[in-house]
Amino acid sequence: MSKFFSLKFDRLIPYVPGEQPKDMSRFIKLNTNESPFSPSPKAQKYAAEAIEKTMLYSDPECCKLRAALADRYGVGAENVICGNGSDDILNFAFSAFCDGKTPAVFADITYGFYKVFAEYNRVPYRIIPLKDDFTIDPADYYNAKGTVFIANPNAPTGIALSVEEIEKIIQNNPDNIVVIDEAYVDFGARSCVPLTKKYGNLIVTQTFSKSRSLAGARLGFAIANKELITDLNTVRNSTNPYNVNSVTQAAGIGSLEDQEYTNENCKKIIETRQKTEEELKKLGFVLTNSYANFIFASHPGKSGEAIYKELKEKGVLIRHFDAPRIKDYNRITVGTDGQMKALIDDLRCIL
Ligand code: PMP
Repeated sequence: MSKFFSLKFDRLIPYVPGEQPKDMSRFIKLNTNESPFSPSPKAQKYAAEAIEKTMLYSDPECCKLRAALADRYGVGAENVICGNGSDDILNFAFSAFCDGKTPAVFADITYGFYKVFAEYNRVPYRIIPLKDDFTIDPADYYNAKGTVFIANPNAPTGIALSVEEIEKIIQNNPDNIVVIDEAYVDFGARSCVPLTKKYGNLIVTQTFSKSRSLAGARLGFAIANKELITDLNTVRNSTNPYNVNSVTQAAGIGSLEDQEYTNENCKKIIETRQKTEEELKKLGFVLTNSYANFIFASHPGKSGEAIYKELKEKGVLIRHFDAPRIKDYNRITVGTDGQMKALIDDLRCIL
């Protein structure tokens, strides 16, 4: 830290993204929940066309992309905001809807960035522990006295709440905002987007990084009632109005036009997840009930860290977390059938 760094950030511990190895060819990369499939043909085509026009600024309103998203999700364009990844929008939400009197409220085991966003925005936060089996008790979030952030499915556990359970949380927080982070919703859980028409205190965020194979393009969005979107736009327009570049906007539109491609890929990932879970269980692993494109697994015979390290030596990268409650677990992204076969073969060897 330099002597010039503002004291307002003296407690800030930045988010640590999963490893992105320099020499990718050495590894089967199952550590950051990316898709193993390329972006859709139209996403690639539209992006290639858009690069030719990048002497111009991108559309700060993302008009065409928002119209395409509104069409896809059955809402109005005024109910949609786009971001540079959904992280961008989550950060706007911490900034717009949390302050000294309104803490952020989230689980002890969830997306690690929530805590960092709270620290960065210098807002207080209240942590609610998951139950022993890593599930959320919805009642823990009733009358939360703060802005609630729930990843559904949760990360890194993959466990999902039902829409009915989330609706109860929303109903029991008439004076609080509930943000549902649906980064992984396309892999088998049900979305709360339809509830945004019914409740003025709900924000749903989603991303193109997982099911739509566009992690490197950085595109996320939120759906909510018009007033909440206006507030998020006030923060966005006060920081970076051109937050989504034109190549990414074009890729996003292409991906939405190729919806069938995404549906097929999600189906494959779900099937591969189920097959891999069976194999892992045969090897003695204990798993959570994941609805995401990753598996959260521990083994009674070997520490999580040892499994992570030995797999890495064999060229398979998975994600290990140090937090005490989950240190025995690893998060394994679901890749192709071939990648998962290599993983299982290596695990058999290690164990
Ligand atoms: N929410 C959750 C739960 C995530 O795991 C991630 C991915 N790290 C994000 C949001 C952010 O994804 P992105 O910024 O790529 O849209």
